[in-house]
Amino acid sequence: MQPRLDALRRRFRPLGIANFIVVKFSDIHFKEAANIRYLCGFNGSNAVLLVTARQAYLITDGRYTNQAREQVTGAKVFTYKNGFSTADAFGREMKNNREIKFRGRIGFETAKMTFDMHKTLQHYFPNCPLVETSGVVEQIAAVKDETEITAIKRAVSITDEAFAKILPLLKPGVGEMDISAEITYQHKKLGADRDGFEPIVVSGVRSSLPHGTATTKKIAKGDFVTIDMGCLAGGYTADMTRTVVVGKATSEQKKVYALVLEAQQRACEAAQAGMWAKDLDKVARDIITAAGKGDYFTHGLGHGIGMEVHSAPRVGAQSKDKLAVGNVITIEPGVYIPDWGGVRIEDDVVVRQDSNEILNKSPKQLIEL
Ligand code: ZN
Ligand code: ZN
Repeated sequence: MQPRLDALRRRFRPLGIANFIVVKFSDIHFKEAANIRYLCGFNGSNAVLLVTARQAYLITDGRYTNQAREQVTGAKVFTYKNGFSTADAFGREMKNNREIKFRGRIGFETAKMTFDMHKTLQHYFPNCPLVETSGVVEQIAAVKDETEITAIKRAVSITDEAFAKILPLLKPGVGEMDISAEITYQHKKLGADRDGFEPIVVSGVRSSLPHGTATTKKIAKGDFVTIDMGCLAGGYTADMTRTVVVGKATSEQKKVYALVLEAQQRACEAAQAGMWAKDLDKVARDIITAAGKGDYFTHGLGHGIGMEVHSAPRVGAQSKDKLAVGNVITIEPGVYIPDWGGVRIEDDVVVRQDSNEILNKSPKQLIEL
């Protein structure tokens, strides 16, 4: 963890800060914990990590005394008693604990700091101006080392296995929600910690919803079924989408599928270090646009994955990121035709020096069940 904390400290000067704070409250969704876990290993639901030029402090509550002792490296751990998971409890502990020493400007994450915590810090530490930052830890975490890539590979392989178990269950009359529940069950059965995100299972005309969640709708014969799933294993997440047809595909379904597949494969081949992410988006988008379906590709080509399912780099037309060796990104073009249906195909790809590595092994040719 030390190299990660040091990488963060190297950003202090350019950011004009002397400290950096990462907060996590238990009432915020679990995925928000990723930056604390990335920096010091702690994955409890409730903590503040304060990184100074020489020291780092993890403050959590009494429920996590043992867990913090086991998990945290690179930071001194303090747990407070009788406290609730509130901004005020953290603020008071930071103020009253004589061992926690810091001064000067504190960088905070605008996307993750709660308004309560911000007010509390201003109240207790009026001489430590708070400085807005965004994406600082995410940019560091975007470049994975081989240990992290191995962890992602494991998450991907469990996801592949779970998908293989799901395929035979896709039949007319089965509910989307049943499939979604089965995905969660299989992930855990096969050794994952849990889902990396709520699985997406959309069928028939609902497959035209890029991020629709499963409902009680029953799968019907001839439906496209789009499944977007990925487990979290060893702290890292996978993210894969496949679209299949339950029954025989119509010629229009085959045409749209072939188009998305071509865009996906070409983008997978084109991805390389040093390339602007927006140019990679363009590779896929141009193919879909040339076929007259550009208006139906309504989201970016992909995103980084790691401890969070959506992280840096962003891979879309508006992205300012450049692909680097060690990035792990998704490539997931889609075509969504309202009142008809949609197709998305998504793989996880490691950007290497002269090539790239597609991690998913699930078949990409159109499956007719
Ligand atoms: Zn996905
Ligand atoms: Zn994705």
